[in-house]
Amino acid sequence: MTQAVSRRINALLASMSGFLQFLDSPHLLRRLDPGVSDFVFGNPHDPVLPGYLEARSRALVPRDKDWFAYKLNELEATEVVARSLRVQRGRDFTPDRIAMTNGTFAGLAVALNALVDSGDEVIYISPPWFFYDVLIRAAGGTPVRVDADRSTWDLDIGAIEAAVTKRTRAIIVNSPNNPTGVIYPAGTLERLARVLQTASDAAGRPVYLLSDEAYNHILFDGRSYPSPTDFYDHSLLLYTYGKTHLTPGERLGYIALPPTMPNSQEVMDALFLMQTLIGWAFPAASLQHALAEIEKLSIDVATLQQRRDRMVGALTEAGYEVRSPQGTFYLLLRSPWPDDTAFTMALADLDVFVLPGATFELPGYFRISLTANDEMVNRSIPIFAKLFTEPPPG
Ligand code: PMP
Repeated sequence: MTQAVSRRINALLASMSGFLQFLDSPHLLRRLDPGVSDFVFGNPHDPVLPGYLEARSRALVPRDKDWFAYKLNELEATEVVARSLRVQRGRDFTPDRIAMTNGTFAGLAVALNALVDSGDEVIYISPPWFFYDVLIRAAGGTPVRVDADRSTWDLDIGAIEAAVTKRTRAIIVNSPNNPTGVIYPAGTLERLARVLQTASDAAGRPVYLLSDEAYNHILFDGRSYPSPTDFYDHSLLLYTYGKTHLTPGERLGYIALPPTMPNSQEVMDALFLMQTLIGWAFPAASLQHALAEIEKLSIDVATLQQRRDRMVGALTEAGYEVRSPQGTFYLLLRSPWPDDTAFTMALADLDVFVLPGATFELPGYFRISLTANDEMVNRSIPIFAKLFTEPPPG
């Protein structure tokens, strides 16, 4: 056998094999067929939000000779982000502590590569967003999985404390959480901060908190959002516009350092180097130019909340075990069959596509994305109800 690609990449591919197989499965391709209800990923199934195209078009018209020149963390964009964060968080965020990213995918890759040394441990919470493990490995780190509390889905602070070692370099926290829909309460975040401060003191170097806030604008029932970064100084706030605008193919986001972070210039220098080395991972010029206008746009969260209520109501009535999410796009449901993959395949045979829990370390569950459109919701409800009453095959 020739070694066609690097051993490092082969090992990373092996660590992702379950998810990659799911992506490649012939049945998943069918989810794009007409008549199918596609609840798999947080992709748009309705027209783009009003005002978006016009704002993007205006930003494509050059206003100076450098309009399409190489772009870094452009002051024009970082000022917009800093202003927005000052309003959202009531803290003195500044443009010089903001790195523009190609969404949170790149934000995590940049941050992990900038902060993690080979063999450092990075804690993530399970069930996770599926790329945490491989992103940590790709940065040379060792992923350390800590389960969320299985009855509340809150952070299990005792378990996090028990997982901390002298090699712990960072923890990834995602609130509002994909897939559980939980917003971690302030009390939990205070306790987390104490654990991380004690760990940093013991190790003689900071343990960083990477706060994945992809869904921090998708909040239901008028809830407010306690950001983990409000409670701990060595925090990085990672945000993507892909959710709020429901345009995940338009890669735009940022990493923001809170005003109280010590050594912030060193961290910014490291992020900048990584943005460059990862392949000039600065967002496209036209996206950065458009940010002043598109930053205030958002999908209609009230409509999403209505869809949440409709689905939770109908599925509960059908017999499913489902908790109403506090934020995000997602419903997390217990699979009526012990084998969640078999159940999701049976649903797919009936033209309803969902994400099996096996792909996000939670066998026995499945996830629905509320970004499906109303037609898909209407079509799928009787199908969900019908399959609930059927016993597993065999
Ligand atoms: N973090 C979480 C929790 C997510 O759900 C996602 C997208 N599904 C991302 C990060 C990545 O976001 P983006 O593709 O916009 O970078």
